[in-house]
Amino acid sequence: MGWKKCPQCDLNYINDDQEMCDVCANKIGLDSRGYEKPVVKHKGRNIFMVFQGKEYSRELKGGYISAPYKDAGGNSPSHWAMLENVKPGDIIFHGLSQCISAISIATTNYFTSKIQDGITEVRQVNCKPYIINKTIATSKYLDEILLTCSNYKYQPFDKNGNGRQGYLFDLNDELAGVFARALAQKNPDLVNKVPEIIDILEN
Ligand SMILES: [Zn+2]
Repeated sequence: MGWKKCPQCDLNYINDDQEMCDVCANKIGLDSRGYEKPVVKHKGRNIFMVFQGKEYSRELKGGYISAPYKDAGGNSPSHWAMLENVKPGDIIFHGLSQCISAISIATTNYFTSKIQDGITEVRQVNCKPYIINKTIATSKYLDEILLTCSNYKYQPFDKNGNGRQGYLFDLNDELAGVFARALAQKNPDLVNKVPEIIDILEN
């Protein structure tokens, strides 16, 4: 792989396959490959929700989340590009079978890897996972989901409160607080194991 100068600023060097440097991309709301990047806003740490499906065990055991750069049609869906918003210390709720079954704390920014199949370039974020002993069913919080998710973009639940098709979503501060309080109540040791969630218990 070779290098070239960023055509936008003519200043920073980038990989051959990149459209522009991170600085320029950020300025115009794009990700590192020139795709639209979802913008998220939080009071403190960023908070996300991931739906891993059949990858759940492998990714959780490996301590990472990952998503390709583009789909078969050449697009970069926002629920994949969302990985570029994750920073060390951010909180990730794991949804599995309509329950919240784990919480992770991100330990890296996103980077490019081939961890999925050894061939495809994907965005990867490493994280430290904690398995929830007593999970909570998200359907029990339908009122809170409906009340909060419609106010923000890129949320994990649609206007009927169903989980969206996709991988990584922004999770608004209020709903994250609802989930965190419910989990902490059922799992008294959670706050010791994941002290980061103290920050969002009063959201
Ligand atoms: Zn540039």
